[in-house]
Amino acid sequence: MLQDQEAHAAEMERTFIAIKPDGGQRGLVAEIICRFERKGFKLVAIKMLVPSKEFAQKHYDDLKEKPFFDGLCEFLSSGPVIAMVWEGEGVIKYGRKLIGATDPQKSEPGTIRGDLAVVVGRNIIHGSDGLETAKNEINLWFQPQELVSYTSNAENWIYAVN
Ligand code: GDP
Ligand code: MG
Repeated sequence: MLQDQEAHAAEMERTFIAIKPDGGQRGLVAEIICRFERKGFKLVAIKMLVPSKEFAQKHYDDLKEKPFFDGLCEFLSSGPVIAMVWEGEGVIKYGRKLIGATDPQKSEPGTIRGDLAVVVGRNIIHGSDGLETAKNEINLWFQPQELVSYTSNAENWIYAVN
């Protein structure tokens, strides 16, 4: 049993998810959180903030050569962002599936961007794209003490131990 629990803990991943200013302004915060929650992923950190443009530039550093970089950082810092960390087995990759393709015109119906957004410059949500970026983004947006480790009662019903 202890071995099962240890194996389960080893599978756990965390990802950084942010609802961008357009998602908040459009009243989609609960809708977006609901999709991660009902899947069975666990919320371990959440806060609302207006990031500075410099902070947005750090977050999107890998895109600094892109023509849309300045507008993107301007937009991310234009209003409240809901920053979150979600935990679960496979949450990084599956979180990206829940979010859908970067361009909402190419996102499948049923995904967050597919159902709720129309253009790439207003695609309402960010999600880490891999293990390293997830770690870096969580460290950028959160202090370690802001991440809450706890056992959810539902875990016994979401994960199989045998
Ligand atoms: P993501 O990981 O799916 O969010 O996509 P990327 O990391 O490639 O890009 C980050 C964000 O930059 C996207 O979510 C979009 O908001 C924006 N973006 C990406 N490509 C374009 C583009 O071609 N034009 C514009 N205006 N914005 C873009
Ligand atoms: Mg990305």
